[in-house]
Formats: sequence, structure tokens, C-alpha cells
Amino acid sequence: MAIQRPKGTQDLLPGTVEQWQYLEDTIRNVCREFGYEEIRTPMFEATELFQRGVGQTTDIVKKEMYTFLDKGDRSMTLRPEMTASVCRAYVEDKLYGQPQPVKLYYVGPMFRYERPQSGRYRQFHQFGVEVLGADQPLVDAEVISLVWNLYKRLGLVGLEVHVNSVGCPTCRAEHRKRLQEFLDERQSELCSDCQERFERNPLRILDCKNPSCQTLTAGAPTTKDTLCEECSTHFEGVLALLGAAGVVYRVNPRLVRGLDYYTKTAFEVMVEEIGAQSAICGGGRYDGLVEEIGGSPTPGIGFAMGIERVLAALQVQNKLPEQKPKLFAMFIALGEKAQNKAFSLLCELRDQGIPVGMDLLGRSLKAQLKAADRQNARFALILGEAELEKNVLLIRDLTIGEQTEVSLDKSLQEINKKYQRGV
Ligand code: AMP
Repeated sequence: MAIQRPKGTQDLLPGTVEQWQYLEDTIRNVCREFGYEEIRTPMFEATELFQRGVGQTTDIVKKEMYTFLDKGDRSMTLRPEMTASVCRAYVEDKLYGQPQPVKLYYVGPMFRYERPQSGRYRQFHQFGVEVLGADQPLVDAEVISLVWNLYKRLGLVGLEVHVNSVGCPTCRAEHRKRLQEFLDERQSELCSDCQERFERNPLRILDCKNPSCQTLTAGAPTTKDTLCEECSTHFEGVLALLGAAGVVYRVNPRLVRGLDYYTKTAFEVMVEEIGAQSAICGGGRYDGLVEEIGGSPTPGIGFAMGIERVLAALQVQNKLPEQKPKLFAMFIALGEKAQNKAFSLLCELRDQGIPVGMDLLGRSLKAQLKAADRQNARFALILGEAELEKNVLLIRDLTIGEQTEVSLDKSLQEINKKYQRGV
């Protein structure tokens, strides 16, 4: 039996890859304009990095990591996300010695052993940014406005930006206590995951997608009731700046992140049209994370966005650009002598940077013309024995069907002129 690709992975074929390139180009342009620089880190890291940096109690670490022993018996893991790797690089590569804050972005594959379904893969791709070394509300607002700006640039509509503040370890302890008090009597009615979360990570119960848990927690105390003064002032500051940037957002007090190193701002972007997996971007502040993985206390904030889901949204909203023609011209050569001459002209045109092609299968005139059409070429450059004898090349405009004859010596110049003029 033919070997198949692993479950939850995709082959990106020509036609689709161009859509990815368009999205990646737009991402890179926006990041450049916002002053973010690209970072590339290894595809796999020591397992401990994710245990500490993502958190032992998270689903990712508990159930979803691709972990293996290498030949030196070291436990390695394919990266399930990038924030931990970026923080590791910040410490290991001494980026704290550079002018602060350090503003980084990445685009690349991540790996999680999840149950594959539409919009959820085992190898998926994220674009994300991380800003390290700044704790002002201005940074939170810049990061969220970068997301907003990207979506505007792409032409996406109908997005919901949810923001919240999860507080700091100090004020969150009070929220945790109140939440446990509230949920105490209802504990047995929670789903089995949430029953487990009750002691370990009760905040995550607010985030549970199970409808009965959502009903049970409808009136639960939110972080808003317990924010300390500093966290509350920070949050007000972020909201005011988001308003100034023209970002349309909704405060969602149920938006939480369960781990201690997540602090203050949390946000998420949703687009309903792409189905159950509607979250296209999630992020927030993590002022405790760099210290958690062994660096000095350093404030940080970032987000990760699912490339596959953004592309799905662009697709349903019909916002993907039309594919550009692949070739400007196709040589159509008949007979060996003509083929040799055409090949030499083709090489010269390629040297000039003009996208041209020729038949590689020795096909008939008709088949070659059909192929030129399929390539969406603007011109067919026809060279048979008769043309060779007359020392001419036929240039056929495939959009209007008109044909001109030019001398072979002037043909390169003529084609170049048409290419430069854009016809
Ligand atoms: P997270 O790192 O879990 O906060 O996810 C950030 C974003 O990555 C989500 O909002 C999704 O858009 C995307 N994402 C996460 N997991 C997957 C997956 N298994 N397949 C596709 N996209 C994903």
C-alpha cells in the first residue's frame, strides 16, 4: 500500500502555497512597519523547556506533546508553541543586553498531538510576536493593534476582539479563592476535566467549552472583581489606548489563562464563519515566564495566530487575491534545430529576469499551445523550421489572438520591451 502522510498533517500544493506566501508576505510587511524583527529557533527543544514554559498542568504538556528520546537518551520535544523558545533565546543569547524592549516575530510550524478535525491539525503553523523587556500598557496596545492592523490589511471583517485582565499572582489568589468558594457546591456537576481543574487550575473552568460548565459558571466571580490597583490601572490604560488606536474590542471577563506567569492583559480574536475552531489568535502578558525558565524577572507580552485558520477566514470571506499568471511567455519550438535556438533565447530571457518557459515533452504544436494557455502565458513565441529558415520568430498574443513576425536578431529586444511595458 502506498505510504500516506501522518494524520493531522497537510501537503501544501502549488496553487495553495501561493496563498500562504501572500499571507506571509503581508505579515512580514506589517511586522517591518511596526519595528518587529524575525527570530527563528529550533523545531525541537529540551522537553523541560515546555514543561516549565508552557506548564505541567496544561493540556499541551499533559497530553499533546511529540516527545522522544534522542540517541543520547535526552528527552526532546517538537515545539508545540514558540513563546517558551523565544524566552529561552532571550536569556541564552543575551538579548536582554540589547536596547529594550526586544520586539520579535516568528512564522513556522508547531506540533501538537490533538484530535484532528477541520481547523485543527497536528502540524499547524503560527505567526506570533513577543515583546520582552517592557511593562507599559502602551506595549499591550501596540501588540493588539498589530493584530488589528494585519486583519485590516488582509480585508477580514466580522472579527471579535476579546480583552480581559487576569491580574497578577497577588490579586489572582483572591479570585481563585472566591471562585473555589462559588464552585464548591457545584463541583460534582462539572465535567470530569473541570473537576480535575478545581484544585489545580480553577480559573480554567471559566474557559471550559462544555455547555453545562458554562451554565454552571454563568454567575461566577470574574477577575474584574478582584483586580488590585496596579492591575486595574494597567487595564484601564490598555483599554484607553486601544480606543485611541481605533481597535474595536469587547471586554470579556471570562477570558482567562490559568497559569501563574500569565499576568494582566489577555486577549483573543474570533471569527465565527470558520466553524467550531473559531479562535484565530490568542495572546497576553506573561511577566513571570522568563524567570520561570531561569532568566531574570522580565516583563513580556505576545500572541500566536493560526495561519491555517486565518487562511480559512480569507477563503470564506473571498479575500484571497487572484493568482498571478505564472509565465510571461512560452516558447513553442518544432524540430530539433528550432528547439536548440529557442532554448538559447529562453536562457537569455531568463538571464534578464523574464519568466518564460518552453515545452519539455516534445509535444505537437497544438498541445504546446494548449500548455501555454494553461500556464496563463501572455505570449506564445513560435519557432518552427520555416521561421528558422526565414530568420524570424512569431509572437502570438494569447489574449487577443493577434500574431506578429519579428526578425530573430531583434526578438529579444522586442520581448523585453513588451515585458517592461507590461503587455
Ligand atoms: P494557542 O498557542 O493554543 O494559544 O493557539 C494560538 C492560535 O493557534 C489559536 O488561536 C489557533 O488559531 C491556532 N491553533 C492552535 N492549535 C491549533 C491546531 N491544533 N491546529 C490549527 N491551529 C491551531
